[in-house]
Amino acid sequence: MAEMTLDDVRTEVRGWLGESWDPELTVAEWWTRLADSGFAAPTWPEQWHGKGLDRGAAAVVAQEIREAGAIGPPAGLGMLLAGPTILTHGTDEQKDRYLRPIVDGQEAWCQLFSEPGAGSDLASVQAKAERDGDEWTINGQKVWTSGGQSADLGMLLARTDPDAPKHKGISYFAFPMDQPGVEVRPLREMTGRALFSEVFFDDARVADSEIIGGLNEGWLVANTTLANERAGLGSGGGGAGGGAFPGTKGGMLEVRVGDVADRIARGGAVQPSAFGRGFDFMRELTEKLGRADDPLLRQRLAELYTLNEVGRMTAARVKAAVKAGKGPGPEANTAKLLMSKVTRLVRDLGPAILGPEGMLSGPDTTGGGVAQEMTLFAPAPSIYGGTDEIQKNIIGERVLGLPKEPGPDKSTPFKDLRVS
Ligand SMILES: Cc1cc2nc3c(=O)[nH]c(=O)nc-3n(C[C@H](O)[C@H](O)[C@H](O)COP(=O)(O)OP(=O)(O)OC[C@H]3O[C@@H](n4cnc5c(N)ncnc54)[C@H](O)[C@@H]3O)c2cc1C
Repeated sequence: MAEMTLDDVRTEVRGWLGESWDPELTVAEWWTRLADSGFAAPTWPEQWHGKGLDRGAAAVVAQEIREAGAIGPPAGLGMLLAGPTILTHGTDEQKDRYLRPIVDGQEAWCQLFSEPGAGSDLASVQAKAERDGDEWTINGQKVWTSGGQSADLGMLLARTDPDAPKHKGISYFAFPMDQPGVEVRPLREMTGRALFSEVFFDDARVADSEIIGGLNEGWLVANTTLANERAGLGSGGGGAGGGAFPGTKGGMLEVRVGDVADRIARGGAVQPSAFGRGFDFMRELTEKLGRADDPLLRQRLAELYTLNEVGRMTAARVKAAVKAGKGPGPEANTAKLLMSKVTRLVRDLGPAILGPEGMLSGPDTTGGGVAQEMTLFAPAPSIYGGTDEIQKNIIGERVLGLPKEPGPDKSTPFKDLRVS
């Protein structure tokens, strides 16, 4: 399969879609077909529900799925983060247990990394894991957990050795969310939605066999997750695109897939990937409101178009680096910074085009409320997946070779460090 040309891939996936796409199926039935075909995760190995294709060929698969009017694989953090991390660091038993329900959407994942005292400085996680026979007992708190309310499993970073230096005493667990020791409290944002939550652990349990990548090796494993996150976000957030969310609690599995496809085609809720389509939307809105001759709007639209093109080319560089076995590297950091810039431009452009109407939100307002929602969501992309300042630090240190920020001695045990 790896030797196929892009035209071969296009022909095969088009033929398969012609026989297999059926809007009358439920989302769960469609995802089962997609998972069986390997086209749900085309870059994954054939042994693990993929096709072993490179990213260029995977882009062809995604394009064909879109053009057929079908929906792609499950959106969310299972496909984007947990799957690639387990593929890289998991044992065969773990791959066997976790990958298929990610690909066919039966299980949803969340990322239990950030804590009130550990965001940018993620290696300061304090959630505590204590060994108890074949299990670990978890106590502590996470915050900003996207999709925590509907997740079946979490990628949990917890401290398994407080006597080790901070990067060395962390383990990475595949953590079951449905248990008495877990409380998930949704956090409402200014968009009116509650996309994320706080998660509290009170003597929660996880089996020792669910440590991914080995005891106290969690920092290395977390970096695989973060590299995939940056690469996915920087290339437009569509890495796990598809628009429908997995898991039995998400409430989409039994819905008619044709209805979901129609909703996605009409725009649906604003997702990070919507910012990549922001230019077309803003240009159409400008024309619709008869403002296409306004020189200031034209100038901003041209800037947005230019930045989108730079973003597209940077994403192509990320893909090429990965294909050459070198990435994701610094291109992913610059791509993510660029996405923050595009997001801020879209944030300002919507209200500038709409005028006073830009202050109203909801589907009955001009443009269906999409521009307004983009404005309200805009602060998020420059924070999640590593803030803009942290991306700049990484570029400064790893690309420009500037001296590292002063920090605690890397050999000091975590328990002796001052933490907030
Ligand atoms: C929409 C959204 C979804 C998210 N989803 C998840 C999720 O699913 N799972 C999860 O675990 N987390 C998630 N996060 C959390 C996110 O990863 C953190 O918010 C982020 O890492 C920043 O951490 P913090 O909020 O603690 O800010 P802090 O680290 O406290 O930073 C505060 C400010 O200080 C700056 N700063 C910090 N350190 C430095 C430094 N060394 N040099 C220069 N400036 C610095 C930061 O740039 C920022 O401006 C999400 C966040 C958002 C906004």
